[in-house]
Amino acid sequence: MFIQKCEKCSNKISWLKVFISIMSGFRNIRCDECKTEYYIIGRYRLLIIVGACFPLFLRSEIIKAFNPQTYSILAILWLIFILLLSPFLLRIYVKN
Ligand SMILES: [Zn+2]
Repeated sequence: MFIQKCEKCSNKISWLKVFISIMSGFRNIRCDECKTEYYIIGRYRLLIIVGACFPLFLRSEIIKAFNPQTYSILAILWLIFILLLSPFLLRIYVKN
């Protein structure tokens, strides 16, 4: 886990900036200092989406083991967990 720095000016790209980008549908991220634009590449976008939807892919036997309310709560907690964690896991790239 790490916080990334701008390739051009070494300014830190904050967790919040990356998080906001994800929440707004993977909007480009702009460095505050030098205005370089960054974007989240496709395979990381896919990873976040698949990761966030993971509870939906569980086998029905596993889902049935929980009562529906518990399952919903766990799925929502999982979604929040993935979204909070993902800014640390993904890499951003300079937009050419
Ligand atoms: Zn910069």
